[in-house]
Amino acid sequence: MDDILERLAKSDFRRKFKLKDKDKLYIEQKGLETIKRHAQDFISKRIAPAEISNDGKQTPMKGHPVFIAQHATATCCRKCINKWHKFDCGRELTFEEQDYLVNLIMRWIEKQIEM
Ligand SMILES: [Zn+2]
Repeated sequence: MDDILERLAKSDFRRKFKLKDKDKLYIEQKGLETIKRHAQDFISKRIAPAEISNDGKQTPMKGHPVFIAQHATATCCRKCINKWHKFDCGRELTFEEQDYLVNLIMRWIEKQIEM
Protein backbone atom coordinates (compact mmCIF):
# COMPACT_ATOMS: atom_id res chain seq x y z
CA MET A 1 0.00 0.00 0.00
CA ASP A 2 2.82 2.43 0.78
CA ASP A 3 4.34 1.35 -2.50
CA ILE A 4 1.34 2.53 -4.51
CA LEU A 5 1.17 5.73 -2.46
CA GLU A 6 4.78 6.38 -3.34
CA ARG A 7 4.09 5.87 -7.04
CA LEU A 8 1.06 8.16 -6.84
CA ALA A 9 3.19 10.83 -5.15
CA LYS A 10 5.43 10.81 -8.23
CA SER A 11 2.54 11.63 -10.54
CA ASP A 12 2.48 15.37 -11.27
CA PHE A 13 -1.30 15.30 -11.51
CA ARG A 14 -1.99 13.22 -8.37
CA ARG A 15 0.42 15.00 -6.07
CA LYS A 16 -1.24 18.37 -6.70
CA PHE A 17 -4.05 17.27 -4.42
CA LYS A 18 -3.52 18.20 -0.79
CA LEU A 19 -5.77 18.69 2.21
CA LYS A 20 -6.37 22.31 3.14
CA ASP A 21 -6.61 23.56 6.72
CA LYS A 22 -10.40 23.54 6.57
CA ASP A 23 -10.35 19.90 5.42
CA LYS A 24 -8.07 18.96 8.32
CA LEU A 25 -10.34 20.85 10.72
CA TYR A 26 -13.36 18.99 9.35
CA ILE A 27 -11.59 15.65 9.88
CA GLU A 28 -10.61 16.66 13.39
CA GLN A 29 -14.21 17.60 14.21
CA LYS A 30 -15.76 14.48 12.68
CA GLY A 31 -13.09 11.97 13.71
CA LEU A 32 -11.35 9.44 11.47
CA GLU A 33 -13.98 6.72 12.06
CA THR A 34 -16.70 8.96 10.65
CA ILE A 35 -14.52 10.01 7.74
CA LYS A 36 -13.91 6.34 6.99
CA ARG A 37 -17.66 5.70 6.95
CA HIS A 38 -18.06 8.56 4.47
CA ALA A 39 -15.33 7.02 2.31
CA GLN A 40 -17.08 3.63 2.43
CA ASP A 41 -20.33 5.31 1.46
CA PHE A 42 -18.82 7.21 -1.49
CA ILE A 43 -16.98 4.13 -2.75
CA SER A 44 -19.97 1.81 -2.49
CA LYS A 45 -22.43 4.25 -4.10
CA ARG A 46 -20.34 6.19 -6.62
CA ILE A 47 -17.52 3.81 -7.51
CA ALA A 48 -18.45 0.17 -6.88
CA PRO A 49 -21.47 -0.34 -9.21
CA ALA A 50 -20.89 -2.11 -12.54
CA GLU A 51 -22.55 0.71 -14.49
CA ILE A 52 -21.84 4.35 -13.65
CA SER A 53 -23.50 6.81 -16.01
CA ASN A 54 -21.21 9.74 -15.16
CA ASP A 55 -17.95 7.83 -14.68
CA GLY A 56 -15.02 10.24 -14.61
CA LYS A 57 -17.23 13.04 -13.29
CA GLN A 58 -18.74 11.49 -10.15
CA THR A 59 -16.08 12.79 -7.76
CA PRO A 60 -16.01 16.57 -7.18
CA MET A 61 -12.64 18.32 -6.89
CA LYS A 62 -13.53 19.76 -3.49
CA GLY A 63 -16.25 19.82 -0.84
CA HIS A 64 -15.18 16.79 1.21
CA PRO A 65 -11.69 15.62 2.23
CA VAL A 66 -12.47 12.14 0.89
CA PHE A 67 -13.07 13.60 -2.60
CA ILE A 68 -9.61 15.16 -2.54
CA ALA A 69 -8.12 11.91 -1.25
CA GLN A 70 -9.84 10.03 -4.08
CA HIS A 71 -8.18 12.22 -6.71
CA ALA A 72 -4.82 11.93 -4.95
CA THR A 73 -5.06 8.13 -4.76
CA ALA A 74 -6.59 7.55 -8.21
CA THR A 75 -9.77 6.13 -6.67
CA CYS A 76 -11.93 8.89 -8.18
CA CYS A 77 -13.48 6.88 -11.02
CA ARG A 78 -13.37 3.44 -12.57
CA LYS A 79 -11.03 4.50 -15.38
CA CYS A 80 -8.42 5.77 -12.92
CA ILE A 81 -8.93 2.70 -10.70
CA ASN A 82 -8.44 0.46 -13.71
CA LYS A 83 -5.27 2.27 -14.73
CA TRP A 84 -3.66 2.46 -11.27
CA HIS A 85 -5.16 -0.40 -9.29
CA LYS A 86 -5.98 -2.85 -12.10
CA PHE A 87 -9.62 -3.49 -11.19
CA ASP A 88 -11.62 -4.08 -14.37
CA CYS A 89 -14.31 -1.61 -15.45
CA GLY A 90 -17.86 -2.77 -16.18
CA ARG A 91 -18.35 -5.05 -13.17
CA GLU A 92 -19.29 -4.44 -9.57
CA LEU A 93 -16.31 -4.15 -7.22
CA THR A 94 -16.06 -6.85 -4.54
CA PHE A 95 -16.14 -5.99 -0.84
CA GLU A 96 -12.41 -6.75 -0.64
CA GLU A 97 -11.67 -4.33 -3.47
CA GLN A 98 -13.84 -1.64 -1.91
CA ASP A 99 -12.08 -2.20 1.39
CA TYR A 100 -8.68 -1.83 -0.29
CA LEU A 101 -9.71 1.49 -1.88
CA VAL A 102 -11.14 2.82 1.40
CA ASN A 103 -7.99 1.84 3.29
CA LEU A 104 -5.83 3.54 0.68
CA ILE A 105 -7.90 6.73 0.98
CA MET A 106 -7.61 6.63 4.78
CA ARG A 107 -3.87 5.97 4.67
CA TRP A 108 -3.41 9.01 2.41
CA ILE A 109 -5.56 11.15 4.74
CA GLU A 110 -3.58 10.02 7.80
CA LYS A 111 -0.33 10.93 6.08
CA GLN A 112 -1.71 14.37 5.17
CA ILE A 113 -2.75 15.04 8.74
CA GLU A 114 0.71 14.13 10.01
CA MET A 115 2.26 16.71 7.69
ZN1 LIG B 1 -10.68 9.41 -12.21
